[in-house]
Amino acid sequence: MSNRVEPIRSVKGTRDLLPRETALWQRVEDEARRVFAAYNFREIRTPILEQTTLFARSVGADTDIVTKEMYTFQDRDDESLTLRPEATASVVRAYIEHNLYNERGIHKLYYIGPMFRRERPQKGRYRQFYQIGAEVLGSDHPTIDAEFLEMLALFLGRVGLTEYNLLLNSVGCPKCRAEYLKVLRQALDKVKDGMCGDCQRRAVTNPLRVLDCKVEADQPIIEKLPHILDHLCPECRQHFDCVAGELQQRGIPYEIAPRLVRGLDYYTRTTFEMTSSVLGAQNAFLGGGRYDGLSEMLGGPPTPGFGVAIGEDRLLLAVEQAGKLKADDALDVFIAWMGDAARDSATQLARAIRQQGLRVESNYEPARLKKSLGLANKLGARFAIIIGEGELGTGRWQVKDMAAGQQEEVEAGRVLAYLREKLQKG
Ligand code: AMP
Repeated sequence: MSNRVEPIRSVKGTRDLLPRETALWQRVEDEARRVFAAYNFREIRTPILEQTTLFARSVGADTDIVTKEMYTFQDRDDESLTLRPEATASVVRAYIEHNLYNERGIHKLYYIGPMFRRERPQKGRYRQFYQIGAEVLGSDHPTIDAEFLEMLALFLGRVGLTEYNLLLNSVGCPKCRAEYLKVLRQALDKVKDGMCGDCQRRAVTNPLRVLDCKVEADQPIIEKLPHILDHLCPECRQHFDCVAGELQQRGIPYEIAPRLVRGLDYYTRTTFEMTSSVLGAQNAFLGGGRYDGLSEMLGGPPTPGFGVAIGEDRLLLAVEQAGKLKADDALDVFIAWMGDAARDSATQLARAIRQQGLRVESNYEPARLKKSLGLANKLGARFAIIIGEGELGTGRWQVKDMAAGQQEEVEAGRVLAYLREKLQKG
């Protein structure tokens, strides 16, 4: 009988992001922060744990997320808590809780972090996944929507993504949606018996949700249902036309998708999604829209809102496929020192180069030159600096360009300037 202890594995649907992956994730996040900052967005960090009612009230009690996907538990004091399945509700909760509406003007906020949904795991779909999200609170002007989509296009360009589709729709306001829902219910009455169980239920409880049913056999029926765009009130129609017009002016291509209602109940007017053909079945890598009534649903003052949630896991799959963004974690310098006498010089040099913000590695024990250079090569170092007895004697270090294989002797005091110049040029 073996005494071997069974290793513990990560929870189904969760995964470890290893250093070979995180370097690119960081690059993507850095680009997001830079682009968001250029549009005057600032970061908000909200808790991962929230009261369950927050999501039931905002995302919607009859959505897939709330009915079957949330990680909900009773805390020790019997309060029902949920690991956030999305963060817009949290951002709006924080906005209300901290009276941000008392500060005049428009609030532009972004967040980056993990979300939790108990879905069936597959490529691009996880139970813990990550979203980069941004929200604008305090204006329903159509320019907000268009400028926001322009910002997303800039961000995607910065991470090397140019092949994607922007799908655009309007889900109207409570007023015109109520009219549309009557028409939709009537149409569904005639066809719902031939649809899946979920659709039969939703046809009664929440008919809009029928439109994003994914069951293959239901698709031909859904195709023939009336379109919400044909039932918008004049104000919503004008809003939609303005957004579309501004997108054209800004040169941002889009496709009208009359069935795009998104899987959350809080949306009003503009809804959008971006898809990429390289992603397979889970092809939507971001989605969002307007949520003008959400603040009131959560007990706050009327505050129009607009936002996006970018599925970072899927975005990264697409970024990797596109192959244009490079991870920024190559080793700049390996310091190879030989003999105890060289240790001090190597230690000081490593510290000085690191203070310049360059990535440096060195041998921790005295090692033969061949072994150290082999290691430098394996680590992908741009330069190796060699300090041995001979170099200590002359006060000049050997600096080897690893890719070119060329080696130069550089005065110890000039090494920093030399590296700076070479690394800038390269
Ligand atoms: P949503 O919050 O449902 O509007 O989703 C926004 C984006 O998050 C989607 O377009 C996906 O890219 C991503 N996403 C949603 N659910 C998952 C999941 N279970 N795994 C990975 N990404 C997801």
